[in-house]
Amino acid sequence: GLPVYGIPGTNQERTFLACKPDAVQRGLVGDIIQRFEKRGYKLVGLKMVWPSETMAAEHYADLKKKPFFPGLVKFFSSGPIVCMCWEGKDIIKQGRQMLGETQPLASKPGSIRGDFSIDLGRNICHGSDSPEAAEHELKMWFPEGVSDYGKAVDSHIYE
Ligand code: GDP
Ligand code: MG
Repeated sequence: GLPVYGIPGTNQERTFLACKPDAVQRGLVGDIIQRFEKRGYKLVGLKMVWPSETMAAEHYADLKKKPFFPGLVKFFSSGPIVCMCWEGKDIIKQGRQMLGETQPLASKPGSIRGDFSIDLGRNICHGSDSPEAAEHELKMWFPEGVSDYGKAVDSHIYE
């Protein structure tokens, strides 16, 4: 089968997207999933996890030196998140665009953060920002792997 991170640069590219604790609390999970489904991306992994502080710190390890790191780790481990693996052409970059900017106030209406959030530390969703990050994050959050499957509709989404 495929590695959990798929095949970057092809229609089987994969990314790690997560609904953060604020999205779960606010009942936004369905709306977030629906946006990617409607666009034609394929959901290949989905589960709810309540991250430990250790997992939160590992997930955001690249931000360890930032002053907001302790608050970020505390928030990310404050409740369950919804872990997702999405697959499709250019999904890593397109996923980030559908999320919006890191700063919700700079995010366009129509993006998830632009539609649903205001504050930087409560910006609803996470998305891998590069193929390297996607590989690392998918291995971390889906050590059991995801589901490789075809859909009959694939030929109506890709030419
Ligand atoms: P992302 O990839 O767009 O999520 O942004 P980063 O990887 O740079 O940061 C991770 C998360 O940390 C962001 O989504 C924000 O929730 C939070 N964050 C980033 N920068 C700041 C900041 O300057 N202050 C605070 N309070 N939180 C921040
Ligand atoms: Mg990031």
